[in-house]
Amino acid sequence: MIIVSYPNIGEYERIVYNFLDKIIDKSKCKILRPEKNNRKILELGEENSPTNVCTPFKYTLGSMINSLNKGANVIIQIGGGCRFGYYAQIQEKILKKDMGYDFDFINLYNGNKLEFFKAVKKAKILNSNLKVQSLLKEIYFIVKLLRFSDNIITYIRDNECYIDDKEHLKKIKNMILDDMLKIKTVNEISLKNIKYKKEIDKLINKKDGKLKIGIVGELYSLMDSFSSNFLEKDLLKKGYKVKRYTTASYLLLDKNKMQKNLLNNSKLYLKYKIGADGTESVAHTLELINKGYDGVIHIKPFGCTPEINAMPILKKISDDYSFPIMFYTFDTLNSDTGFQTRVEAFIDMLEMRKK
Ligand code: SF4
Repeated sequence: MIIVSYPNIGEYERIVYNFLDKIIDKSKCKILRPEKNNRKILELGEENSPTNVCTPFKYTLGSMINSLNKGANVIIQIGGGCRFGYYAQIQEKILKKDMGYDFDFINLYNGNKLEFFKAVKKAKILNSNLKVQSLLKEIYFIVKLLRFSDNIITYIRDNECYIDDKEHLKKIKNMILDDMLKIKTVNEISLKNIKYKKEIDKLINKKDGKLKIGIVGELYSLMDSFSSNFLEKDLLKKGYKVKRYTTASYLLLDKNKMQKNLLNNSKLYLKYKIGADGTESVAHTLELINKGYDGVIHIKPFGCTPEINAMPILKKISDDYSFPIMFYTFDTLNSDTGFQTRVEAFIDMLEMRKK
């Protein structure tokens, strides 16, 4: 039996599952959903990675080792962009040559380029009857699903601080997570979108005076709660208005089109793109200042060079606009308490400024 798995990032593994569920030959293949990131996965990745590699490498490697230990014999590495684009090649060598795992590795990216036809050829392992046409149809569906889930989750995040009925909101969120796994048609997506939007709108009760905080920085830490100590969830729970721009649909579908605009909007501080999401960190911080936000938290994993490039520029912006920005680097040895204390102190300061 073929058992296919893939590394985890946030809730997006649900969408990957949905996609695979539609294309595999179920008589010969089953899907092993990766565990959510946790300490054990991080330790597995840490033990087997080069010391100075950035933390997402360790999370994704740990996630793959965990699935291989549970019986997976095919692994798909989906990440692209930045050094992530070349991680797959190194991870394959570590897993096969250093650790001795015997499995098929499907790598969708070479550098920053999606290797579509090579991937189709490899995908035959999962279903020998798979046709390019049906694969394209499923890709179209999955792009729609990704767009729907990112849009609706962003809409909730943007309005969560104005919703008092948290129980009802939790139910809607769980239904959306469930849909990411189970929705099967584009028509269903449209209907669900209308339904959830109506339900959420009924719960929103806009009130002024909320503290507004933006979160910018590296994509993995922004999209995976565990890797950023649940920062976003925590701020939302405390009732602050939270803005985060980076989503998988932005990275995969919009980023290329938006880069020129972002660079243009930050031309006083940037002449060239600075790699990965560094340009976004600068441009989005400027946008948040213009929108009247009270402060920004910049997060990155240990070893992330594009965000190290963005930091001095953000410090200059902070000085020029007298705008508070907190910087935090997540490492494999983070202390939850130290992090909480820094966030709380930063928020206290924002609240005092606002008063
Ligand atoms: S953006 Fe940073 S953390 Fe992410 S792959 Fe690139 S260097 Fe690593």
